[in-house]
Amino acid sequence: MRILLTGGAGFIGSHFCDRLIDEGHEVLVYDNLITGSRENIAHLSNHDSFTFIEHDVTEFIKVEGKLDAVLHFASPASPNPNSPYGYPQLPIQTLKVGAHGTHNTLGVARAHRARYLLTSTSEVYGDPLEHPQKEEYWGNVDPIGLRSVYDEAKRFAEAMTMAYHRTYGINTRIARIFNTYGPRMRLDDGRAVPNFLCQALTGQPVTIYGDGSQTRSFCYIDDMVEGLYRLLMADGDVHLPVNIGNPVEMSITELAEVIGRVTGRSIEMQYLADQRGPSDPQRRQPDISRAKAWLDWEPKVPLEAGLKPTVEDFKARL
Ligand code: UDP
Repeated sequence: MRILLTGGAGFIGSHFCDRLIDEGHEVLVYDNLITGSRENIAHLSNHDSFTFIEHDVTEFIKVEGKLDAVLHFASPASPNPNSPYGYPQLPIQTLKVGAHGTHNTLGVARAHRARYLLTSTSEVYGDPLEHPQKEEYWGNVDPIGLRSVYDEAKRFAEAMTMAYHRTYGINTRIARIFNTYGPRMRLDDGRAVPNFLCQALTGQPVTIYGDGSQTRSFCYIDDMVEGLYRLLMADGDVHLPVNIGNPVEMSITELAEVIGRVTGRSIEMQYLADQRGPSDPQRRQPDISRAKAWLDWEPKVPLEAGLKPTVEDFKARL
């Protein structure tokens, strides 16, 4: 297939790009590099089936030749306001890439009669009142909170994707991605896994926002890529959103303990009550029944196993 992938220089995007190339597809990556990085795709730059175009997909996208699939991965994704890559620092870009970027990429899919994959997020559930989160749950999102620029952009993106499917019959798919980690995450991304890894490896106290009782469920990048690839390739009626994430739930304090064990460092936990924003979800865990039934997919890599290559990658870059 000839595939357009936005956000292909990002963490998940670049790993997905590797998979597409391995499977023999031709890939055109569009990325404006505001949070992605050239290093993530440097190893592909001389590959015959790979083309990188530096472009902001909130602006018109013109693609010559046939296209079989359009995959919209581009977006800032870290909620941390202290990171230069966090969406609270990039609020307008985040809203625009979710709204105009989704509209433009759907337009490309329509023009080429290509299939379409939107990477949405567990953030559409907001601070969830149902647990674990099933795709049928409508969510609990503050429309003007600090996270709203991401959450509402992705909710709009899902609505737009379904509208193109219902109105024009575009063969769309929507993945709701839950917390994912692995090699190539930015060291200063600001999210819990990269922060804790950098802190543990450099002998700094691990910064726990709030009391550390809030939970997340962490998926290793290889499992994520497998789930997304299966969704892209699935036949039949797979148009409704599908949660892709690891259902093993743990508290943020437990995550810090695991990172201490895997790095082999004795870590000091620093609890920072005032760093935890009001829209920071208290619990998050995907119900992956739909992914199991539709894609025959579930994660295989336990947290400690996935953290090992991640630690090696971080050590090499620190
Ligand atoms: N968090 C933390 N310390 C950090 C970074 C994050 O305690 O240095 C917390 C954050 O408040 C949240 C959880 O870890 O409750 C997961 O945050 P992350 O930024 O990884 O992404 P989120 O799942 O909130 O989108």
